[in-house]
Amino acid sequence: MANVSLVNVEKTYPNGFQAVKRFNLDIRDGEFIIFVGPSGCGKSTTMRMIAGLEEISSGELWIDGQLANFLEPGQRELSMVFQNYALYPYMSVYENMAFGLRVHKVERSEIDRKVRETARMLQIDHLLDRRPAALSGGQKQRVAIGSVLVREPKLLLMDEPLSNLDAKLRSQMREELAKIHRRFSSTIVYVTHDQVEAMTLADRIVVMKEGEIQQIASPNEIYNNPVNQFVAGFIGSPSMNFLPVRSGVENGNYFLQAGESRLAIPALLAKRIKDQGGFGKELILGIRPEDLHRKKEMSESAGQTGGELQMKVMVREGLGAEVLLHGEIAGENACVKLDPSCGTRPGETIALVPDMTKIKLFDAQTGENLLYLSLKR
Ligand code: ATP
Repeated sequence: MANVSLVNVEKTYPNGFQAVKRFNLDIRDGEFIIFVGPSGCGKSTTMRMIAGLEEISSGELWIDGQLANFLEPGQRELSMVFQNYALYPYMSVYENMAFGLRVHKVERSEIDRKVRETARMLQIDHLLDRRPAALSGGQKQRVAIGSVLVREPKLLLMDEPLSNLDAKLRSQMREELAKIHRRFSSTIVYVTHDQVEAMTLADRIVVMKEGEIQQIASPNEIYNNPVNQFVAGFIGSPSMNFLPVRSGVENGNYFLQAGESRLAIPALLAKRIKDQGGFGKELILGIRPEDLHRKKEMSESAGQTGGELQMKVMVREGLGAEVLLHGEIAGENACVKLDPSCGTRPGETIALVPDMTKIKLFDAQTGENLLYLSLKR
């Protein structure tokens, strides 16, 4: 277990490219932290700086209260699992797992106990005598993780550890990683492209864009209270719908106008928008596919006070438990998630009512979420 702090950490590569800017993060003991963001946003660079594989250009890295900028990787008491995990092909699974402990001159009986216990936990105890060539991708990955876990690292760094696996194995390994984290309570820093991994495994997610942190928060908060349009659009699948809207007031009633459609704004929401100086600005309405409902399904209690959006349906995607309809609302691409009993077909136009308690409003110029609730910690 370890605390890790990054204070104003920056990375400029020798060619002058600044890959990480003003990175500030306090990772608590035992926390599972996940870095997400588009390709090239600096996730791996940050991870490699923590590992000691990349020099820190400026700022401070603290591991357990010790300034770690100049510590060799081996002195940082951390372990790494990468996408392309390496196993020794001529050693058995047992020997692969025992190798790191042997190097550290751990007693033979202690090695045996740790290897067998870890193997049992990862459900690879029946594979201990096999060579890596006789293992499936998922089994190899478990052995790779096992060889790291036997050493009980204080800090575990994982860079896309599951990305080589097929969907089913990935989901199994995801569950196992969650168990491993609970069981070992190691501090884990994890990089992924996979939103489901981030949403299900992380205590906190760090969303990055172009080398900068956009938001650090729990998966729920990131999903429900994104700081800006980038985070809102990046997290969630299918992504949040965005519609340019005009805000206005008529006869004392506040409304949002999206193309031909007009949505009434409930009084409390109107006050929040007013307090944020939102009226009169160009705004982007953000609404998740599951927060749009067929007109007849919508109840008064869900925050609806009037108005609907017309969606021209172009594609119907049946997913079993739900159906996704893709099409256009007010000329913008849009998607709605409905009950599979919905019989709508491509070519039809349907009336949708947004749950006004769930909508987001972004400043069209800055992308900032006007309805962001700043939670004091
Ligand atoms: P991905 O998800 O594609 O792995 P990432 O978020 O992990 O991306 P990094 O690998 O950290 O991104 O790279 C961040 C940026 O730094 C990228 O634009 C990359 O091209 C650049 N970069 C990485 N290594 C070097 C290097 N040695 N010299 C110059 N630029 C580099």
